[in-house]
Amino acid sequence: MKSWISRPVPQLPGSMPALRLFDTVIGGIVTLEATGEQSMYVCGITPYDATHMGHAASYVAFDLLNRAWRDGGQQVSYVQNVTDVDDPLLERATATGVDWRDLAASQIELFQTDMEALNVLAPDHYVGAVESVPTIVPAIERLVELGLAYRVAGTGGEPDGDVYYDVEAAGKHAAEATDAWTLGAVSRLTDAEMLELFAERGGDPGRAGKRQALDPLLWRVARAGEPSWPGGGLGEGRPGWHIECTVIAQKYLPAPFTVQGGGSDLIFPHHEMGAGHAYSLAGKPLARHFTHSGMVGLNGEKMSKSKGNLVLVSRLRADGEDPAAIRLAILAHHYRTDWSWTGEGFAEAKNRLRTWREALAVAPAGSAAALVAGVRGALSDDLDAPGALVAVDEWARTALDGGGTGAAGDAALVSDAVDALLGVEL
Ligand code: ZN
Repeated sequence: MKSWISRPVPQLPGSMPALRLFDTVIGGIVTLEATGEQSMYVCGITPYDATHMGHAASYVAFDLLNRAWRDGGQQVSYVQNVTDVDDPLLERATATGVDWRDLAASQIELFQTDMEALNVLAPDHYVGAVESVPTIVPAIERLVELGLAYRVAGTGGEPDGDVYYDVEAAGKHAAEATDAWTLGAVSRLTDAEMLELFAERGGDPGRAGKRQALDPLLWRVARAGEPSWPGGGLGEGRPGWHIECTVIAQKYLPAPFTVQGGGSDLIFPHHEMGAGHAYSLAGKPLARHFTHSGMVGLNGEKMSKSKGNLVLVSRLRADGEDPAAIRLAILAHHYRTDWSWTGEGFAEAKNRLRTWREALAVAPAGSAAALVAGVRGALSDDLDAPGALVAVDEWARTALDGGGTGAAGDAALVSDAVDALLGVEL
């Protein structure tokens, strides 16, 4: 599937120091090895709804990592999926009387336009679930052959043959190796915590015929009125969500790749199960590190479609708001914190953008190099964007207080640095 278009990234003199990043699996900060080549997979949207601030904040967070790597002279391979067939999409299409394919296409288009506006660098591969079915089917067949997946008999009017991943068998299968996956390896949750989240986040712990309540769906056989694709020995159907991401990541990225990213609501079951599938299929970990961004609410409340309080990037853009200000409002919060979108926060971001732009005209001679070092230092410390904004704020205050005539070279370097590292065009 076509991705969106990245804007050019200015090259800066010097480079980013070694990057330190929080790894969910170890629950602490790691220093990323600068091997020259980095790889990242960030889970994409299910295209049934416009990009809300939670999505935007997550993609902006991993865009900071992408930019920091590039500034440090690293080649980055970046892959993102789009779950262009899944239950929520089909349900929304039915509820609104729209063909599910048209709904997906329109929301993917809107998402990509939002990403372009927010200056998020495009992935090298933007891959849909539907186009990946021919790759996913053999992976599920292999899990069945290995005895790590099984078919469930239909009860209560359901057809026979849905395929589930056997989390217990998979954990035992891998148990000899030190880097092996067992259930809980990524999320570090207790069984009770996992069970609660599994039910909340699309799992079906009570499905009759499953071996363990936490076994996730790999293949849903065809039902009347639902789209389906040829599944070889599995029969017609469509893939589960975790195996979709696993297979796409394994096809386009090295094993293991550097960072698996996404919102913190993806830690369990999505990233937990994806890591299991990958280990079962390849005998290697899916990713070296797992990193997660916080959740975004509105005025202190959880943002959700059902509450009708989604803050949409496209709506703000339609209202004539500057996407650079939206991006600055996001960057004012550390990517790992949960935070709330507020009118005051957005007003502050707009003020900050105006101040920075005014300061460029009076950039003090010789001031830019220290500013670049300050922004790099903050970002290398677990992508501390708020710290980077403070560095630019201080530079701008000094510039505006100095009352000088402005040095063009410094203004250009500050502008390039804020663009290259923070993705904000002044
Ligand atoms: Zn995913």
